[in-house]
Amino acid sequence: QPVVAVVGRPNVGKSTLVNRIIGRRQAVVEDVPGVTRDRVPYDAQWNGRAFTVVDTGGWEPDAKDRAAAIAAQAETAVVTADVVLFVVDAMVGSTDVDEAAVKMLRRSAKPVILIANKADNTSIEMEATSLWSLGLGEPFPVSALHGRGSGDLLDAILAALPEAPAIVENRPRGPRRVALVGRPNVGKSSLLNRFSGEERAVVDSVAGTTVDPVDSLVEIGGQTWQLVDTAGLRKRVGKASGTEYYASLRTAGAIEAAEVAVVLLDSSEPISEQDQRILSMVTESGRALVIAFNKWDLVDADRRYYLDKEIDRELRRIPWAIRLNLSAMTGRAVDKLAPALNKALASWETRVPTAHLNQWLTALVQATPHPVRGGRAPRILFATQAGVAPPRFVLFTTGPLDAGYQRFVERKLREEFGYEGSPIEISVRPRK
Ligand code: GDP
Repeated sequence: QPVVAVVGRPNVGKSTLVNRIIGRRQAVVEDVPGVTRDRVPYDAQWNGRAFTVVDTGGWEPDAKDRAAAIAAQAETAVVTADVVLFVVDAMVGSTDVDEAAVKMLRRSAKPVILIANKADNTSIEMEATSLWSLGLGEPFPVSALHGRGSGDLLDAILAALPEAPAIVENRPRGPRRVALVGRPNVGKSSLLNRFSGEERAVVDSVAGTTVDPVDSLVEIGGQTWQLVDTAGLRKRVGKASGTEYYASLRTAGAIEAAEVAVVLLDSSEPISEQDQRILSMVTESGRALVIAFNKWDLVDADRRYYLDKEIDRELRRIPWAIRLNLSAMTGRAVDKLAPALNKALASWETRVPTAHLNQWLTALVQATPHPVRGGRAPRILFATQAGVAPPRFVLFTTGPLDAGYQRFVERKLREEFGYEGSPIEISVRPRK
């Protein structure tokens, strides 16, 4: 999501302008001179285009040189922004502080929209034309307070944003796609057969849906699901024909085609390297994951003891996967599968509002700052969620983060927002 930074001296009306852009009078703090505010991001939308507005209120009152402080604040905002809104008070005109900021803005080579705020009437609007002298092009006269000129401004912002990314694949309406995978003999066909009784009826009821002939539509827990590439399981040729290499290609293909994968393990046997390879295929693909321990009917107290140890050791890197203990043979816990799939998919598609994300993040880095390395500690400026399926986050920072600290942030993010059954991706964008 593109970022729009609002930069300007205290009291020019940045908060009011942000309120105007996000279209609600929410708790954007007043622009009181001498009060430091942190950069706060808000979600905004105009004409169907979503972007993040960062309100840079952070004027540092104790800085010796006011102009330098403003320039520094603006600089930070500008590096992380795609578009900068530079706000000037139309009633005051440009000041030397404004001019200092302009120098920096021009060096940054980012698109800048010059806003002459407080242009509440036509005569002030006329005055605003003198702001051409700042060398930032045509000033946009706006009254953030009364809304004057704000529609035009929003159009200008959209025009300045980077090209919209190709529309994120709109999930076709229809059954969710599930890959049922696992090494030979773990019980995939047996599990599939449990769901296949009503298959004919299901296919008929979803008439008009085009389903790949190698897929199956089955009813699980009162819901229709598309199990991808089950042809091999049905004809029971999966293990008879082809090499392990071929089987593994087929598994990878099924995972790619699915939204959520059920990896079946045989609880009566140790977790093997082949099991691990299949689990890695899922985690690398970014799909949601449910691990089903099948043949649970064969697990006695003794086996249970060793299995728990294996799970600790072998599944340590994917503590977020949803785990089920079931038996395709007896039907034990098979009814838990649909709720588990739904939960994993919900996590996979979770979007956290930017303001909420950053409130949480601010508290986190305050309580546990990045450790100091070589006399310096990178700071996290703010975060946005760049996408879903799986959830992807971007952290804007003053420098690269320690791998350990990044894992810490991920763990805390999961603690706060859940994501049970879904991988999440975090990338760090240090300012240059
Ligand atoms: P696939 O290769 O993964 O499709 O595995 P199959 O479904 O063909 O099952 C392999 C063997 O495990 C067959 O003999 C099944 O009867 C048996 N099996 C499958 N599920 C269970 C289960 O829950 N408990 C027990 N005890 N055996 C099972």
